[in-house]
Amino acid sequence: MAKNQDLQNRRDAAFARGLGNQLPVYIEHARNAEMWDVEGRRFIDFGSGIAVLNTGHLHPKVQSAVAKQLEAFSHTCLMVTPYACAVELAEKLNRLAPGPTPKKAIFVTTGAEAVENTIKIARAHTGRPGVIAFGGGFHGRTFMAMALTGKVAPYKAGFGPFPGEVFHAPFPIAYHGVSVQDSLDALEHIFKYDIEPARVAAIIIEPVMGEGGFYIAPPEFLQALRKLCDQHGIVLVIDEIQTGFGRTGKMFAIEYAGVEPDLMTMAKSLAGGFPLAAVVGKAQIMDAPGPGGLGGTYAGSPIACAAALAVLEVIEEETLCKRAEQIGSLMVSTLRAAQAKLPAIGEVRGLGAMVAMELVKNGDPHQPDADLTKALTKRAAEKGLVLLSCGLYGNVIRFLAPLTAPDEIVREGLGIVVESLRELTGFKGGTEGADKTLRSAAG
Ligand code: PMP
Repeated sequence: MAKNQDLQNRRDAAFARGLGNQLPVYIEHARNAEMWDVEGRRFIDFGSGIAVLNTGHLHPKVQSAVAKQLEAFSHTCLMVTPYACAVELAEKLNRLAPGPTPKKAIFVTTGAEAVENTIKIARAHTGRPGVIAFGGGFHGRTFMAMALTGKVAPYKAGFGPFPGEVFHAPFPIAYHGVSVQDSLDALEHIFKYDIEPARVAAIIIEPVMGEGGFYIAPPEFLQALRKLCDQHGIVLVIDEIQTGFGRTGKMFAIEYAGVEPDLMTMAKSLAGGFPLAAVVGKAQIMDAPGPGGLGGTYAGSPIACAAALAVLEVIEEETLCKRAEQIGSLMVSTLRAAQAKLPAIGEVRGLGAMVAMELVKNGDPHQPDADLTKALTKRAAEKGLVLLSCGLYGNVIRFLAPLTAPDEIVREGLGIVVESLRELTGFKGGTEGADKTLRSAAG
């Protein structure tokens, strides 16, 4: 039996079905933007392990920083006998976090844990219970993070009850007819119908919605949230777990809005594949919980901290924020050229290298085509490209190539996307045109 199939059978028998699985492809080794499976097939990686590998698979600098740390020690527990690399990383993140207010940090292990801790800190600081999040948002799979997540199936279905005093407002999405004013009105409605602002501890938002479909929050909306939070003494939490570390063309996506968050979550690309997450925020707010109230056995693993310090160096040395803009514009121009020929592409959008393509029927934003999206990820994989989908209706392809990916690889991957879409939609008209525009846009 083929090795992938054999492993897939064993996987299905060994793991609970709740652990999703996109492709029956078992990776043997990976470098930068490419992976090879156990049968020797090569894949271009446009998913980066869900936004974790902005610096690519096994960047030599990250690899050697980790190897060096492993020569020294692998664990002591940051809460027992700390170590220098964690302190240095916290100092660096505090400096990188936008805004002039002095910052402090904590480390945890996963994104969901970082989100949980922002709510603990906001509640300790304000003495208030309420939290407002946004429909379609994703914040993780633990209980408070699930409560904040704005999508029922598959993340919340069957798992309730959730922590109380959590409310959702619609995320402003022009493509779906939700304006900034609509979202602001909805927040006022929450204050009228559900909870008075004086009892709200935090508002949490992703500056670019990740799992929900790569919708970019307009800067004026984020600025209005800042104002609202200041007006009512609410802690503004910016979830940068998917958007962080150069992905959007800036170190953090919130920088586009010129807004200083009260608290920020960071994870994923922070440590290039090693489990590390952080909450960074205004020192006075961060210091609200008492000693021992925050932490975790593995929180701030020295191996992950060593990796993260190397990741930050690579982002700076290789000017990956600039590179994100280049990759993003190559992707957006290529996909927009294809959009002109392929009616299934409803919208192409992107901030830096956080790019998405929304697939619809009949060019109608209200007719999401989840089947085509699924078929495209499958067809692309058959042709050697790992693509991820997302979206409240499962009809968005998200592009998350490593920021270290060379142009040839990005072009090759985009070529597979366009060719697969053409095959799947059976769209004949303008085939050569699409090829030509792909070549000129990508070339
Ligand atoms: N917040 C955002 C914006 C995310 O994208 C994710 C993960 N997709 C999380 C939180 C949860 O992170 P983790 O899976 O590491 O718990």
